[in-house]
Amino acid sequence: MEFVESLVCVLCGGAYAPRALFTCPRCGIRGILDVRYDYRAIARRLTRRALSARRELSQWRYRELLPIGPHSAIPLLQAGWSPLTLAPALARHLGIRKVYLKDDGRNATGSLKDRASALAVVKAREHHKKIIACASTGNAASSCAGMAASLGLRSVIFVPERAPEPKVTQLLVFGAAVLRVRGSYEQAFQLCQQACERWGWYNRNCAINPYLVEGKKTAGLEIAEQLAWEPPDWVAVSVGDGCTVAGVWKGFRELLELGLISRMPRILGVQAAGAAPITAAFRSGEALQPIEPRTIADSIAVGVPRNWKKAVVAVRESGGAMIDVTDEEILEAMRYTGRLTGIFAEPAAAAAVAGLRRAAAEGLISQRATAVALITGNGLKDIQSARTAAGRPYELAPDGRELEGFLQEQGLVP
Ligand SMILES: *Cc1c(COP(=O)(O)O)cnc(C)c1O
Repeated sequence: MEFVESLVCVLCGGAYAPRALFTCPRCGIRGILDVRYDYRAIARRLTRRALSARRELSQWRYRELLPIGPHSAIPLLQAGWSPLTLAPALARHLGIRKVYLKDDGRNATGSLKDRASALAVVKAREHHKKIIACASTGNAASSCAGMAASLGLRSVIFVPERAPEPKVTQLLVFGAAVLRVRGSYEQAFQLCQQACERWGWYNRNCAINPYLVEGKKTAGLEIAEQLAWEPPDWVAVSVGDGCTVAGVWKGFRELLELGLISRMPRILGVQAAGAAPITAAFRSGEALQPIEPRTIADSIAVGVPRNWKKAVVAVRESGGAMIDVTDEEILEAMRYTGRLTGIFAEPAAAAAVAGLRRAAAEGLISQRATAVALITGNGLKDIQSARTAAGRPYELAPDGRELEGFLQEQGLVP
């Protein structure tokens, strides 16, 4: 916490000393706190040259910009420094000059959530907690359980009744105590909150924990550094709760403040058409109206996003845009992204690529632009959707009679 200056409430602007504080004491649960640093001191330390000499190839290479102690134990699992891969065939397909994919499905438990969970377990250890808890249906939970296992903490995960089986299984493998609440996500969330208060567990919850978004911002820091400090024109990020898109934007803002970059990308926030309350708020300029989410992209199926305001402000500040894509477009994007790049994205991640396609088709993104799509989760997380997208293998009798016909149909033989 060497460089942390204060925690500032996003609602009332009140500034607090960085202690074990989660939300603003004046505004209550809605008063989300934002971590502020001493950027002048950091700028002296975090120069381009200093960074290029660092051998730490993970999000911890930006330690000065993270709210952890200089000697705090960090998980041994990989978090961050995911590959940024040039995708020329995909770029042609999208009608954009240059496209990169930042593959965060390559984090230890398969999603970008590892960046936040890695930070959560560090903070839990700093506060001498032995148990970390989380309410989630998906990637936040599995990354919390995995990172906890890596640092020797127990994890307690509250999942709603309809949580997908593969993700629940991942939790059990990581040794989490998994509690399936016979009810909605909201009810699971409340139970988790109460349990944390009662037994003093560490709460891994983006809505109230100001430190988690600091992990997510490293995706933005890395994009800039991996592109030799020349940010792209656009960065496409899928949006559920809004924490990721706000985090990525915060990363770029800090780099500008530190003088490490001299121009900013525009942010394309992408929601699924069946779960797009943030896009609606962005367009209307009014307060968010909760909706009943309906989309195959379960990781961004959020009807009552808690970070909507931060997300709207981030996209607006960047001069960017919010866009919606249908489930059809998402499934299609899973297929052509896999075929044209070899990267397997879960639906919520493929949504970012589908968003780029739509934005290019609508003329929102120029054909001469450079764009990065953040692949937030690995496709193996949701095999059911992948199967819907990719179809079935060709069934063949063992005598090989149908082989030539099939190969001809596929254009593999003359
Ligand atoms: C959580 C998640 C998102 C969206 O992040 P928010 O902070 O909820 O907006 C996108 N894609 C995947 C795969 C995720 O797990």
